[in-house]
Amino acid sequence: MQCARHPQVETYVRCSKCDQPICPKCMVAGPVGMRCRDCRRQNLDTIMRGSPAQYLLGALCAFGSALLLGWMPHLLIWLAIMYGWVVGEATLRGSGRKRGLGMQIIAGLAAAVGAVVWQLGGALLAGGLSALVLLASPWVLVGLGLSVFFAVMHVRYI
Ligand SMILES: [Zn+2]
Ligand SMILES: [Zn+2]
Repeated sequence: MQCARHPQVETYVRCSKCDQPICPKCMVAGPVGMRCRDCRRQNLDTIMRGSPAQYLLGALCAFGSALLLGWMPHLLIWLAIMYGWVVGEATLRGSGRKRGLGMQIIAGLAAAVGAVVWQLGGALLAGGLSALVLLASPWVLVGLGLSVFFAVMHVRYI
């Protein structure tokens, strides 16, 4: 038989999913045998793309954990890293471990909102308008940056 994309190439291999003949150029090794490039791409899409319900659940878990733990980045730098990781993990669990760009944005946004809400709340309790000054202090910004960075990284790669 001939490859579905390259009619001049003789082959003995079929895609393990859609069953079309594929030549060495077209095949991609996967966990369940050889696949054609289309099926391979579809497979990646199912990892990356979530349904609206999965996005909603991911966002709920992300913001829930962030609002619960937003005090962490203001105490110690390594707590900021941990906080980011936890928010990322919550996003992944809520969404069924979808790692698409949208989910990364949700995790990063949630980490930022949680940290800012706690910073503002604490500062407002401490002394009104100084809240805004405190929010702009370099340590708070470093903690905020690390939180967001690790939340996004955890959803994306780790
Ligand atoms: Zn296929
Ligand atoms: Zn081919």
